[in-house]
Amino acid sequence: MIKCLLGNYLFLTKMIPRRYERLKRVLNQRQPDLTVLTEDVHKPHNLSAIIRTCDAVGVFAVHAVNRHSDTPTFSQVAQGSEKWVRLHSHPDIKTAIKYLQEQNHQVYAAHLSETAIDYRQVDYTQPTAILLGTEKWGVTEEASNLVDRHIMIPMQGMVQSLNVSVANAVILFEAQRQRLKAGLYDQVRLDPETYKQVIFEWGYPNIAAMYRRQGKPYPELGEKGEILATL
Ligand code: SAM
Repeated sequence: MIKCLLGNYLFLTKMIPRRYERLKRVLNQRQPDLTVLTEDVHKPHNLSAIIRTCDAVGVFAVHAVNRHSDTPTFSQVAQGSEKWVRLHSHPDIKTAIKYLQEQNHQVYAAHLSETAIDYRQVDYTQPTAILLGTEKWGVTEEASNLVDRHIMIPMQGMVQSLNVSVANAVILFEAQRQRLKAGLYDQVRLDPETYKQVIFEWGYPNIAAMYRRQGKPYPELGEKGEILATL
């Protein structure tokens, strides 16, 4: 284990090879064109469960609009998954949907409306964003008018809707099923620059933060994930 003392901080500049392999295996399967947009999903356990499912199916980044607070909080339900899935906050729902559409995503609102189609009818191998509505009131009228389509999970029970994180899981695992079949997890989907950046941040979060504070690019990693530069 190679250590480096900087100021009062001790940094490890080498990681266990098994850990590096694991980080790469997960990053190799991240899907930059499959994402979730939450509209005012504010309960920490719901947001946490959403992020945890996103991590499980290889979503690279989640988008959020929160009218009440800028910094979403996570509960134990997340199991640390918030470290592995990027979270982008947007000022309002219109900006968020426009941003995703400009990135060529079809934006589907999970929304039990009269025009909603069964969620299994969608082709999730195309760039896709799933919009999830707030716990009590669901997707706002504004958002429902801006998205490309509404999708719904058929319900046969007495209760009208599912918990938002459950709805997210049902839809994302259908997306995962389609993407596995299409071989989208068999090839690296992230661009090389982003890949290099993220693997460094995952492997060395404290050193990455230090480089960002100094406005410096991250150093290169060697074959076994060791930092090649002298800190
Ligand atoms: N009363 C709200 C409504 O009418 O939409 C219920 C909101 S539900 C608890 C929270 C979110 O979960 C919804 O906005 C939707 O995004 C998602 N959701 C829950 N059940 C769903 C279903 N059966 N089909 C599609 N989305 C669903």
